[in-house]
Amino acid sequence: MTDRGSYQPLTYFQLMEVSLRELLVEKGVVTDAQVDETLEDMRRRGPERGARVVARAWTDPEFRKRLLADGTAACEELGLDVPALRLVVVESTPEVHNVIVCTLCSCYPRMLLGLPPDWYKSRNYRSRVVREPRIVLAELGLEVPGDVQIRVHDSTAEMRYMVLPLRPPGTGGWSEERLASIVTRDCMIGVAVPEVTR
Ligand code: FE
Repeated sequence: MTDRGSYQPLTYFQLMEVSLRELLVEKGVVTDAQVDETLEDMRRRGPERGARVVARAWTDPEFRKRLLADGTAACEELGLDVPALRLVVVESTPEVHNVIVCTLCSCYPRMLLGLPPDWYKSRNYRSRVVREPRIVLAELGLEVPGDVQIRVHDSTAEMRYMVLPLRPPGTGGWSEERLASIVTRDCMIGVAVPEVTR
């Protein structure tokens, strides 16, 4: 604390976080250890949950219907908690490719995909993917054929999107586990598509 050279004043939201956390600890609502544990849990979380949801939707047509109708409820069926959020799952088809963004900040289905990658939060991605999605996707390594329509979904604080990618050919008879293994984070954002590697 003596090194004033590295002193940085707290931003408004950092100050809010510290004040609220200290109050909650002081009032005995939560403990410091619980806060640390929850944070650690959030950092550790990867896209495995989302991949499980996709694999189930690929193998169970009734689940797929329920997932597209109400993402939050369908995830809860699998024991995945989607706290106080409306999860909207958008299905990519041979005609339509979906991609998600939060143009305002960095809203993201963290409960299913873990923490968002840095580029998702970048101003470059947020401002350009809505205007020139085909170009941005190509820059990220995904060439969407010209006859495939691209739909961009803008997330909000209350509503999160996740992409249900198209199940690739050559995966017939695969187990859910094996299917889940080819569903990457980027596939569920919509900047990549699942690929069958040998
Ligand atoms: Fe946001």
